[in-house]
Amino acid sequence: VYILGIESSCDETAAAVVKNGREVLSNIISSQIVIHRKFGGVVPEIASRKHIENILPVIDEALRQANVKLEEIDAVAVTYGPGLVGALLVGVSAAKALAWANDKPLIGVNHLEGHVFANFLNDKDLEPPFMALVVSGGHTALLKVTDYNSFELLGQTRDDAAGEAFDKIARVMGLQYPGGPEIEKLAAAGDPQAIDFPRALLKEDYQFSFSGLKSAVINYLHNEQQAGREVNKADVAASFQEAIVDVLVQKSVHALQETGLKKIVLAGGVSANKHLQTALADAVGGIGASLVHPTPILCTDNAVMIACRGYFMYQNGEYSPLDLNAVPSLKLG
Ligand code: ATP
Ligand code: MG
Ligand code: FE
Repeated sequence: VYILGIESSCDETAAAVVKNGREVLSNIISSQIVIHRKFGGVVPEIASRKHIENILPVIDEALRQANVKLEEIDAVAVTYGPGLVGALLVGVSAAKALAWANDKPLIGVNHLEGHVFANFLNDKDLEPPFMALVVSGGHTALLKVTDYNSFELLGQTRDDAAGEAFDKIARVMGLQYPGGPEIEKLAAAGDPQAIDFPRALLKEDYQFSFSGLKSAVINYLHNEQQAGREVNKADVAASFQEAIVDVLVQKSVHALQETGLKKIVLAGGVSANKHLQTALADAVGGIGASLVHPTPILCTDNAVMIACRGYFMYQNGEYSPLDLNAVPSLKLG
């Protein structure tokens, strides 16, 4: 079974062909990061226009590299939410046109479920049930994956997402967009114990909050500046990263203990963070569980994960009507 995946929810225009849900035949990603960098974040209107320019060449390239013709594709899977409405509409429109013109099923995919399914490409033996810690630019949640097509949301963030916190703190510290990789680089030279930043809601099961941490870092930087003291940026980055990772790890361990699940996967852009990967692997290893995370290129936005999620929906006959619309605030679970 060949699935063509299409992704355009934010600032990556992506297309991929995946065979039988687990074998990547092509993975084309046209990132707009350098375009949005000079604005310090994604500008929705510019993103939509760039998607329009890129979408057809990206799809053509994905088919060409996979050496698969459109006629040979079994279904077209596309992200229909959550994301920026103007950006999503570009992928959704392209997918609908391709599906209709070639008489193929259309499958609307939840972008966050896609992030979770990126793990199936890395661990060929992975199968539900397992826990998923979704840590992306816009979401932070613990999700129970009961089987290939059913999910139970255990809890999520009340305010900022983990990736959003990385991006905002990086911005205050004068680092470039996206902030996660920049903070991680800087943190490597710092002391994670240097500053004791707050860990919020540790007693509240499965709920996260990172806006207090964000304020604490901003206040710290402000106070040091007011006092005329030199700030050790590497220490700030390392201590901030430690605080986020600490909360994510503690909540994940608790979720595994409560549910008795023995496997947890990381999903979303923050999964690329090496410190999170190691700390989480160590902690869950300590309670007899194991961690799976996607390869770096599949942590952030891509269409392989959409094709993979689409494959399992295809197997389940979950097709979308041709009047499928973008749903910017599509929920998880
Ligand atoms: P969502 O998936 O919630 O719709 P998104 O698609 O914009 O949001 P992703 O592409 O999943 O987000 O991830 C991007 C986020 O991941 C950014 O916030 C970025 O800073 C963060 N990120 C990427 N690499 C790292 C890293 N090494 N450490 C920490 N954060 C990282
Ligand atoms: Mg992106
Ligand atoms: Fe994403």
